[in-house]
Amino acid sequence: MNLSELTLDRKGLTAALACEDAAFEEALCQEAYRVKVATVGPEVYLRGLIEISNICVKDCLYCGIRRDIRCQRYELSEEEVLATARIAARRRYGSVVIQGGERADAAFIGKVTRLLKAIKSIDTGEDPPLGITLSLGEQPREVYEEWFDAGAHRYLLRIESSNPDLYYKIHPQDHSYDRRLKALCDLKEIGYQAGTGAMIGLPFQTAEDLADDLLFYKEFDAPMVGMGPYNPHPETPLTLSGAPYPSARRRFSLGLKMIALLRLLMPDINIAAATALEILDPRGREEGILSGANVIMPNITPREQMVKYNLYDRKTLNASDVQDLASRDIPIGYGRWGDSKH
Ligand code: SAH
Repeated sequence: MNLSELTLDRKGLTAALACEDAAFEEALCQEAYRVKVATVGPEVYLRGLIEISNICVKDCLYCGIRRDIRCQRYELSEEEVLATARIAARRRYGSVVIQGGERADAAFIGKVTRLLKAIKSIDTGEDPPLGITLSLGEQPREVYEEWFDAGAHRYLLRIESSNPDLYYKIHPQDHSYDRRLKALCDLKEIGYQAGTGAMIGLPFQTAEDLADDLLFYKEFDAPMVGMGPYNPHPETPLTLSGAPYPSARRRFSLGLKMIALLRLLMPDINIAAATALEILDPRGREEGILSGANVIMPNITPREQMVKYNLYDRKTLNASDVQDLASRDIPIGYGRWGDSKH
């Protein structure tokens, strides 16, 4: 396939994803990087990722911290979260993301509210207060409102797959695609910059499904998207079922092409180069940036807990290092929120 033949409709996107020609992939990623620089600028924005807890009430069939898996659970104390957020301020990351397993208990919800207020009052010197993104799963609208009022202004909630049939193949029966969609709409209505995304290279997933994921982001008019390759965790039902999935090389290549195609489809949004890329290649995040992404989430969770936030095998993670970008002369938007221009 030739780049000049690419159309950004379902048929064209599917063909681009199905095409395994390396020269096409390289041309596509280069073009997307050019569009990124021309539209949202050369900078990469950072969000310090704080993984607050791996305790979860959900039982997603692919996830290594699902409710029914046996693993060592942890929850950072308020002081630990604040100390970590202060590191982000000191390094001038501009923003933090608080991510964790889904929790519905009042103690946790109140803790997050207090933390939001405390993080907003951290001294950042000349810079604006830290921007805060939350990624804490599906919550009642009132909880989203409480957290918004306390200072969160972005929320990440992946749709995981925009195809309801595939969604139900990778989640237990008590999950609801419609409920997840409603949560995304609630977030948007409340005023959050609502980010979404899906896993790439799942069992049962077709090139059409991936094209539909891209069209879903467009239709939802998402100001930010964080998507990344599926990485099998050895003890999850999805892995143990033996259902086949694409090779690591193919999932990595699909991950880069999804970023590149999305940049062409939605030139002015924020697109994250997900951690899951780095698991497949030590230069994964950098490759993500060179394929059109403009956000990186250096993981600043204390190391001892980071290894317990084991969505998939994380032994190879180099976490918070952003030297790779500096060595490529890619400018970093230090001390700024880097909100979506969309
Ligand atoms: N509880 C929050 C955060 C979940 S963890 C929520 O529900 O939104 C963040 C993301 O990790 C998930 O949205 C999922 O897309 C991804 N993830 C989980 N297991 C994974 C795996 N095995 N491979 C790749 N990504 C995975």
